[in-house]
Amino acid sequence: MGKKTTHKFKAEVSQLLDILVHSLYTNKEIFLRELISNASDALEKVRFKAQSEGEDDGIPQEIRITADKDAGTLTVTDTGIGMTRDELMRNIGTIAHSGTAELARLAEEGKESLDSLIGRFGVGFYSVYMVADEVTVTTKSVEEGAKPVAWTSDGKTDYKLQELDEDRPRGTEITVHLEKDLVDQFTNEAHIKHIVGKHSNFINFPIYVGEDRVNTIQALWREPKFQITAEQYAEFYKFLTFDSEDPFDTLHTSVDAPVQFNALMFIPKSGDDPFGLGRENRGLDLYVRRVLIEKQNKDLLPEYMGFMKGVVDTEDLPLNISRETLQDNILMRKISATLTKQVYGHLEKMAKDDADRYNEFWRAHGELFKAGYMDFLNKDKFALLVRFNSSASDDAEGLTSLADYVSRAKEGQEEIYYAYGPSREALGLSPHLEVFRRKGIEVLYLYEPIDEFVMDALRDFDGHALVAAEHADMEKLGKFESLEKEERPEELTDGQKSTLDKLIGRFKDVLGEAVTEVKTSSRLSDSPVCLSNPDGHFTSSMDKIMRVMHKDTSIPKKVLEINPDHPLIRNMLSIMEKDENDPFIEQAANQLFESALLLEGYLNDPHALVGRVQDLLTKSSGWYVETTK
Ligand code: ADP
Repeated sequence: MGKKTTHKFKAEVSQLLDILVHSLYTNKEIFLRELISNASDALEKVRFKAQSEGEDDGIPQEIRITADKDAGTLTVTDTGIGMTRDELMRNIGTIAHSGTAELARLAEEGKESLDSLIGRFGVGFYSVYMVADEVTVTTKSVEEGAKPVAWTSDGKTDYKLQELDEDRPRGTEITVHLEKDLVDQFTNEAHIKHIVGKHSNFINFPIYVGEDRVNTIQALWREPKFQITAEQYAEFYKFLTFDSEDPFDTLHTSVDAPVQFNALMFIPKSGDDPFGLGRENRGLDLYVRRVLIEKQNKDLLPEYMGFMKGVVDTEDLPLNISRETLQDNILMRKISATLTKQVYGHLEKMAKDDADRYNEFWRAHGELFKAGYMDFLNKDKFALLVRFNSSASDDAEGLTSLADYVSRAKEGQEEIYYAYGPSREALGLSPHLEVFRRKGIEVLYLYEPIDEFVMDALRDFDGHALVAAEHADMEKLGKFESLEKEERPEELTDGQKSTLDKLIGRFKDVLGEAVTEVKTSSRLSDSPVCLSNPDGHFTSSMDKIMRVMHKDTSIPKKVLEINPDHPLIRNMLSIMEKDENDPFIEQAANQLFESALLLEGYLNDPHALVGRVQDLLTKSSGWYVETTK
């Protein structure tokens, strides 16, 4: 026997163990799922090695679970790859799996209950300490000349390691010394079978409980579609993703040309990443002839289709392909192109057959899918599938496609208009959109910065240019009638027109360098003024994004547009006619300019504006008191 040595757990492991031991998590049975899943991974590695090296030692690849009620133990044995002494120390004693570290971090934060955290994360090997007083791991690596090693720990602060003299077959045996009150439950074979069936039915290797083989369904993706029930799909999906809900949709295909593969993919109901691992947690599992080559491969589908979960199995790749060369492999690229096409086809069909269902998909996954604007090869397909809220929708939940917009467009309307804003309410009040509201021209509402990149990349749809409403050519809009007969104020007299020129001159004097230009506007009806961009400039929202990127906090210079029909501007004309130098003109010019800045989100210091408002209110309330006397 080798010498017995004692080692301390790494700090993050102690922390995690502490969490697990003290949690009141009721679903303790998942420890078995974790042990079986580790055993399966170890077997995949052996299978991979055997097939790529072309030698088989004849030891069956399997998992066996035995229970001993008298001893109070449950044992999980696999004939997998095993671990050397070094590997044991590295793998069980430190945290290998990013999810586990994340769990410990979130638990520390204390915002979410431990129960839900443990439920959400795969907690790996350590979850065994939810049920165990002590655990022994006996393992022998396939590595040439490796000695069997035993690892023991009560899961508190340290573990013991010892090299064993007597040989044993390759693989790992984990003996769980159950807590007293859990012995009956977890040594009951019927109960164990039930747990294995529930969580581990799709494991790719036979699992025996006692003498009986429990899992029967393997490689579901290779079975003919018509033989598979919705329940089986759902079960497989849950096994694969740990989602507790059924999948939203299932896509099961078998392709022979230009490359052979089977794929079984799912769209989850919710877009929330259940592991909190962000982009890492995407990708399809790649198998070659049922041998797992890579979990969550990132090249089989583009990143913006990361909501697809599932499995791809091909006959055409060599088994011994290294993960590094996968990326540059031509076959991989062919599979990826075909898969991408299939996902598009599937979504197109959904959108066509059942718009409500497609919208449901969009609400859950649209945010990620939108990044597809960068995929120029699929631009046309993508354009058919993007959705937006719009002025024609009933509420903020409503979604429209570009095709729907075009079908509703006015006769002779060549452009599709859109506007970016923080909310439907804000856009509904935006001065820039007054002319569209007046004429009943639909405007797509964009709420996310990425939407504007989408519009920029698409440029046009079905012969209609995509145009930001604030950049719309007023002459093009001029040909469309207003919805209601407008009560136009009286035309300006020649005298008023020349006063208007003077008023514009005063605005320029007062505002000076703060604006590029002051001019009359034809887009406004309810507002006295608005700010617009100088010709050929970005949209305001794009401008904001660029400013954030360049850390530019200065206020952009814009054009101030004046609505000569607004009563306030008309009053200003009357005041000008009496006294061109009346101080009210300057006060009002500043006030209107700053209010417009405020609406655009550029007013940094509100003090002057508030001071002026108070002054004007004081004056007007005085006049009010006078006139109502
Ligand atoms: P994870 O499986 O998520 O990586 P675990 O804590 O469950 O995290 O396991 C840590 C590591 O220990 C595994 O990645 C694997 O390398 C090793 N391991 C665990 N169980 C076994 C086993 N039955 N056979 C071989 N290696 C194992």
